[in-house]
Amino acid sequence: MTIAEVKSILSMPKRICITSHRNPDGDAIGSSLGLYHYLIQAGHTVSVIFPSDFPLIFSWMPDSDQILISDLELPKVRKVLLEADVIFALDYNALDRIDKTGEIIRPLSQVPKILIDHHREPELFADFMLSDITASSTCELVFDFIHLLNDADKINKTVGECLYTGIVTDTGSFKFATSPKLFRIVANLLERGVEDYRLQDLINNCLPEKNLRLLGHCLANRMEVLPEYKTGIITITKKDYETFDIQRGDTEGIVNYLLSMSDVRLGCLIMEQPTIVKISMRSKGDFNVQEMCRDHFNGGGHKNASGGYSHQGLKFTVEKLKNLLPTYKDKLLNI
Ligand code: 5GP
Ligand code: MN
Repeated sequence: MTIAEVKSILSMPKRICITSHRNPDGDAIGSSLGLYHYLIQAGHTVSVIFPSDFPLIFSWMPDSDQILISDLELPKVRKVLLEADVIFALDYNALDRIDKTGEIIRPLSQVPKILIDHHREPELFADFMLSDITASSTCELVFDFIHLLNDADKINKTVGECLYTGIVTDTGSFKFATSPKLFRIVANLLERGVEDYRLQDLINNCLPEKNLRLLGHCLANRMEVLPEYKTGIITITKKDYETFDIQRGDTEGIVNYLLSMSDVRLGCLIMEQPTIVKISMRSKGDFNVQEMCRDHFNGGGHKNASGGYSHQGLKFTVEKLKNLLPTYKDKLLNI
């Protein structure tokens, strides 16, 4: 499909579903609600669908209470998806990233699908793809998408606040994946009324006390540094989940602390969750964690921020990771 065909489809009110990934982060929510607030201006009926619920810290976002969660109301999700005229896939690159929601979408071959995403190696399931791995965030690409449709004037303050949120969260408040283009977009959003200081405060200064205690515990008791591989590892055990009452989103950001050590180039957070061991990786410079997660931990993501999982238990997974490090030594030491 060309952008002209997309524009033509969207020129009449349609039933539209916007889907994003499990454990939605600021970019998933921001891009979905940003696109939602753009589309409803043209009279479309729009549903936003996530496989699992989003962190409470984003509940200030306008109409976040309208979001449908597949884990909680699958029959309703199935109904709106089967009635959809257009389906958007935002901030994910493969239908298996959205579990049951993806299984419902896959057979809907007659329904135009539009993918907007910045993850590596997208699966080719969409009819129109705006996929750019150099983009800071899917929110940046939603901004581009609205411009491609010649609808820049529809980026009002609400759309802008949603897009700004994903940009802030995916760039770690403008620390990585930035570009001159991104700063121009952000300047444009501020000109449209986005209150950057207020939003940064809402997004970044929102932690309950227990999260700081968990962070302290991780850094003091659960962190291992392997200087010979410029690697830091934090493990979170099942018991930690109970002790610190860890809920969805509570471990967000912890992995980044490993990279704040000047001599660490690879940071790994390994979490013993009820059914899987979840892995989060971050890297500096050219070290590609997307390949590492793809090749060894069933995962993927971006060059410097990826994730994956294992079914082999915490101890085994940590050992597996450590055993892999010699293979990556030259790259880790940047030789
Ligand atoms: P995080 O570490 O914050 O959970 O995720 C970092 C990046 O890796 C995100 O862009 C996310 O989409 C991706 N990612 C995390 N877990 C997985 C996974 O299990 N599979 C794939 N393909 N990507 C993942
Ligand atoms: Mn993203």
